[in-house]
Amino acid sequence: MSIAEIDLHSALKKYFGFSEFKGLQEEVIKNVVAGNNTFVIMPTGGGKSLCYQLPALIAEGTAIVVSPLIALMKNQVDAIRAVSEHEGVAHVLNSSLNKTEVKRVKDDITNGITKLLYVAPESLTKEEYVDFLRTVKISFMAVDEAHCISEWGHDFRPEYRNLKTIIKRIGDDIPIVGLTATATPKVQEDILKSLGMPNAVTFKASFNRPNLYYEVRPKTKTVDADIIRFVKQNDGKSGIIYCLSRKRVEGLAQVLQVNGVKAVPYHAGLDAKTRVKHQDMFLMEDTDVVVATIAFGMGIDKPDVRFVIHHDIPKSIESYYQETGRAGRDGGEGHCLAYYAYKDIEKLEKFMAGKPVAEQEIGHALLQEVVAFSETSVSRRKFILHYFGEEFDNETGEGGDMDDNVRFPKKQVEAQDDVKILLETVAKTNEKYKAKDLVQVLVGNSNALISSHKTDLQAHFGVGKAKDPRYWMALIRQVLVARFLKKDIETYGVLRLSNEGKDFINNPTSFMMAEDHVFDEESNDGIVT
Ligand code: ADP
Repeated sequence: MSIAEIDLHSALKKYFGFSEFKGLQEEVIKNVVAGNNTFVIMPTGGGKSLCYQLPALIAEGTAIVVSPLIALMKNQVDAIRAVSEHEGVAHVLNSSLNKTEVKRVKDDITNGITKLLYVAPESLTKEEYVDFLRTVKISFMAVDEAHCISEWGHDFRPEYRNLKTIIKRIGDDIPIVGLTATATPKVQEDILKSLGMPNAVTFKASFNRPNLYYEVRPKTKTVDADIIRFVKQNDGKSGIIYCLSRKRVEGLAQVLQVNGVKAVPYHAGLDAKTRVKHQDMFLMEDTDVVVATIAFGMGIDKPDVRFVIHHDIPKSIESYYQETGRAGRDGGEGHCLAYYAYKDIEKLEKFMAGKPVAEQEIGHALLQEVVAFSETSVSRRKFILHYFGEEFDNETGEGGDMDDNVRFPKKQVEAQDDVKILLETVAKTNEKYKAKDLVQVLVGNSNALISSHKTDLQAHFGVGKAKDPRYWMALIRQVLVARFLKKDIETYGVLRLSNEGKDFINNPTSFMMAEDHVFDEESNDGIVT
């Protein structure tokens, strides 16, 4: 072991009390200490903070840590101060400080006491701060939650966009450390580009959570009864149930209570006192289940959550991964059950209408992945990991048999001829119908729109009547996933042929579709009593 390694280990022990590094931490830290640009991608709980805290504590100068979460910054500052001799070792610089406090922070930095300076990105736009930081020794700049810089991330923050310029103003050669728990290949590329560090050494931990079991069930009218049954089968275990709306949260929490389940609601519409109370009840095990909107979960560190149920499918795979990731933190069992109806996707699409077109395009692309995930017949784990740019082999990989599609494979049928019929119908009707109307054209049911275009008088009207509308709807969704068709955004969903779709008409190839396609049943908003 070299001197440097011994030093890192003793620093780990001294400041954090740990004897071993976790995962890639040691390699990352060596790279940061060497003054290189570094990009760290680790799932939540992977131990990212230590990757910049430890180098900051042992390096000369002050490390600037940019983070969007004020509460989190405060926690980190308190934790670092607790193990250091001087309170000034870590500071937060933000607009809430008065003149005297700002002076104290500046003095501590100038005197070489402060090792970690936490700032929100908007504070860095203040000329006064930038001018000051230019004059002191900065060891490196850590950008936490770096996905906030990308419009393709789940939490885009425009203030992050200017970081590169600001860092350059503070110092031309300051090493940068970007960290995130969300990295699709697209977001990764964006981060490296936007932070101006194409040469950064990238460290990516596996996103595989082998102890989580993934399952998607079709959402039917009996979804609430199904959830109650599931929760009762898991009596006494802790779980989170996510719903899209506050109303649904309240409704489902009540239904569970009526059915003898210890459940509480949690959403941003509840007053702060109630929210804290319900959160504490969950942590202290006074309640088994929290029914919540996505407002619940950030920073909740309950290791023995045994199930996460999605009553409504989330708007992206990232959100799904983050939310299901709250199950089984202790390495024990964690059942992730999502209910999916295509209707819910359409609901999410409606929410996006009216937003800027670029944002809508991204939103639609992310939703399309959710459809693909929900309707896929390949391993859910393989799908998720592939989404995060990771190849997974179910035969050899850990947790390879931990999802519904692997345990209970769906039957596949050849749909090549039907895909051709479908795409030809789109072409022959001059790409003017949305999915619903196109299905009607295929099965030969006219309506006002179809007859206004005189499509019902044309030869291909009803070419697909041998199959039922649900079959065609399912096929359209799977063909959208395969990108032979795309939805036009301006017209809210008119189907158009992609180049791949046009090629398919001329050169059809095998197209296997999952036979089980009951995903367009009415989603039910009523309460089961
Ligand atoms: P992330 O930011 O990646 O979500 P954190 O930095 O919050 O993760 O770390 C997650 C947990 O792991 C924390 O409780 C932290 O104290 C712990 N941890 C980090 N590094 C180590 C280590 N080397 N040994 C043991 N525990 C660690």
